[in-house]
Amino acid sequence: MSAAKAISGNLFGNDPAFQVTGETISVLPPLPLAGPYDYLVPEGLSVQPGDFVEIPLGRQTQRGVVWGKARGDVDPAKLREIYGVLQAPPMADVTRKFVDWVSAYTMAPQGAVLRMAMSVADALEPPKPIFRFTLADPAEGEGDGESSLRMTPPRKRVMAFLRDHPPMEQADIMRETGAGASVIKGLVEAGVVRRLMVTPPSPFDDPDLDIERPHLSEAQERAADMLCAKVAGDGFSVTLLDGVTGSGKTEVYFEAIRTALEAGRQVVVLLPEIALSAQWLQRFRDRFGVEPALWHSEVGQARRRDTWRAVADGSAKLVVGARSALFLPYANLGLIVVDEEHEHAFKQEDGVIYHARDMAVARAHLGGIPAILASATPSLETLANVEAGRYERVELSERHGMAVLPSVEIVDIRQDRPERQRWITPTLKKRLAETFAAGEQAMLFLNRRGYAPLTLCRACGHRFQCPNCTAWLVEHRAWGKLQCHHCGYQAKAPDSCPACGAEEKLAACGPGVERLYEEAVETFPQIRIEVATSDNIAGPKAAAELVNRVHNHEVDLLIGTQILAKGYHFPMLTLVGVVDADLGLAGGDLRAAERSYQLMTQVAGRAGRGDRPGTVLLQTADPSNRVIKAIAAGDRDAFNEVELSQRMTHGMPPHGRLAALIISGKKENEVDEAAWRIGRAAPRGDGIVVLGPAPAPLSLLRGRYRRRFLIRADKQVRLQAMIHDWLSKVKTPGSVRVQIDIDPYSFM
Ligand code: ADP
Ligand code: ZN
Repeated sequence: MSAAKAISGNLFGNDPAFQVTGETISVLPPLPLAGPYDYLVPEGLSVQPGDFVEIPLGRQTQRGVVWGKARGDVDPAKLREIYGVLQAPPMADVTRKFVDWVSAYTMAPQGAVLRMAMSVADALEPPKPIFRFTLADPAEGEGDGESSLRMTPPRKRVMAFLRDHPPMEQADIMRETGAGASVIKGLVEAGVVRRLMVTPPSPFDDPDLDIERPHLSEAQERAADMLCAKVAGDGFSVTLLDGVTGSGKTEVYFEAIRTALEAGRQVVVLLPEIALSAQWLQRFRDRFGVEPALWHSEVGQARRRDTWRAVADGSAKLVVGARSALFLPYANLGLIVVDEEHEHAFKQEDGVIYHARDMAVARAHLGGIPAILASATPSLETLANVEAGRYERVELSERHGMAVLPSVEIVDIRQDRPERQRWITPTLKKRLAETFAAGEQAMLFLNRRGYAPLTLCRACGHRFQCPNCTAWLVEHRAWGKLQCHHCGYQAKAPDSCPACGAEEKLAACGPGVERLYEEAVETFPQIRIEVATSDNIAGPKAAAELVNRVHNHEVDLLIGTQILAKGYHFPMLTLVGVVDADLGLAGGDLRAAERSYQLMTQVAGRAGRGDRPGTVLLQTADPSNRVIKAIAAGDRDAFNEVELSQRMTHGMPPHGRLAALIISGKKENEVDEAAWRIGRAAPRGDGIVVLGPAPAPLSLLRGRYRRRFLIRADKQVRLQAMIHDWLSKVKTPGSVRVQIDIDPYSFM
């Protein structure tokens, strides 16, 4: 029997005391292309599954996680020994299973997924100890140096200070007594002051569970009870918290969070764009009396390290983060909340391509814990899961308190025409004027950054295009630049046409928010107007400041892109104008209607959240479009029903399954050749349709040529296995990348 076999039974046993020495194991390094590799455990060393270890890999030393039993695919005589075990809490069984599950589902290598769970380079270093100083205790035979020591005034001050205080850090003593470091050092050497080494405390305070909650309405109470029962019930469940905008979903799931915390479990809340969530975070602090552990791309390196460790040792009880927060090594996770579950920001589009909402459900399942998905406009996928009985649903159908849902009106821009090169219709203009006259606030929504989406030469017809992408350059007049919104390429806005040399013939086509701002300033010169896009509201600080300005009524009119659709609550905001309601419907991908519906409903949901009623105006050239009609009628169910039946007819999600392959590379002929060969090996069979290869809509992106396949499969097809078989039959050159996107959301 091989050594690998000898231990295989034990290594996955749940006996925590079980340890291995002198045997073989597999270790997974957090590297993009890696799977687990076999190693020997040197004599005298003990490891268990989940231990962080140092291993030789090629010529380098690498860190990895003991994944389990040896795979046995390498001759034990050729195996190398691990170097040692790191001093960090081992990665929990459930986290490792989650890594394996995500890898299997997304078809990304395990190492690439593990990398998301080990994203902090130095988190595995033992934390730096802290030193504190206190008086030596003569009763324990210490402190007899005092009599012989010359008591200078600084020494006296330090001694007196320490007599009255608990053990203090050097910096604090120096600040409070004015004594230098050498004074303290002298006292320690003389034996009258003792230096203590203490483990640094967790940077995260325990939440306060005694803060009085707001009085919940009957409907809220019922919803909260149901969610709390799920949390207390201790087992896997998924509940859709389905409530109209402003119904108090947040207040309700806060109760579920509190229940989980009370049971001593950790909680993670996923927010789609945490940088824009200042208002939400404030409510969170008010409710739990502490700062949550934040996890997103803007958290600094030192804080990331502390957070990672605190999550791993269980001292960070509340984590609030972007999708990657799901991959933290929780010691004791008891509840996952996904707020705004319909948001496409939860889909990660590069590296490991995954949807955080779906992975959250998988993580809850593996951990045997409840998940709560909250939204006013749930995704069709989630609604289908409710329909099928896999998820439960709890509804909040009314706004909290006196607030009512806004009334939605359609403005037909073919009749109610704006002036030439203008975008605000006479009706919208009139309503805006009335709103400002009443001392209320308004919002104009246009989901286009910059000044104009296209610049054209009126002399020769030349259009400004990105050299790296199949995309027009967008004018940003504020910076005097043309910019590509896909790769970030920038060029100075020219005065003359580079194609024909004509001067003063360049025309901006169509509006962006900057142009709308120009129009609004001309129309309402007395009014305080602000533009909010990802260009100027980039981080949490800018977002919080904007929220404050709107709240303090320093702004009358807010103009912005989809960042305004987030859960903001501005009681004085009573009018929302959707400048181009047709915009999102134009592209026509699978989810265009659904996404448009969600986005416009969320934007509309900003109006009338206080005690003044709100109005939403949808400017459209297509008033009979079913998305527009459904929003105007407030009839979500009717919209979803039609949308679902159309998807059913075409076997599209949530009825069928989709996957995409994106073949890309720097040389167009290589990409075409690879795509052709992959196409020739494409599977055929019942319940499978493979479309492609076709040039991607963005057939050039960041300098790479791109071809796409779309695979549609019936529900019962084992999609991943099929793709795996397919691709293993085709050899592609290393210069061509093949990306697999299971459940694609982007069709570009
Ligand atoms: P949603 O998340 O459903 O849009 P919120 O939880 O943001 O709704 O609630 C909307 C507003 O109503 C918030 O300002 C919130 O503080 C307030 N609110 C909701 N429920 C209550 C309640 N029971 N008592 C007091 N205020 C509430
Ligand atoms: Zn570009």
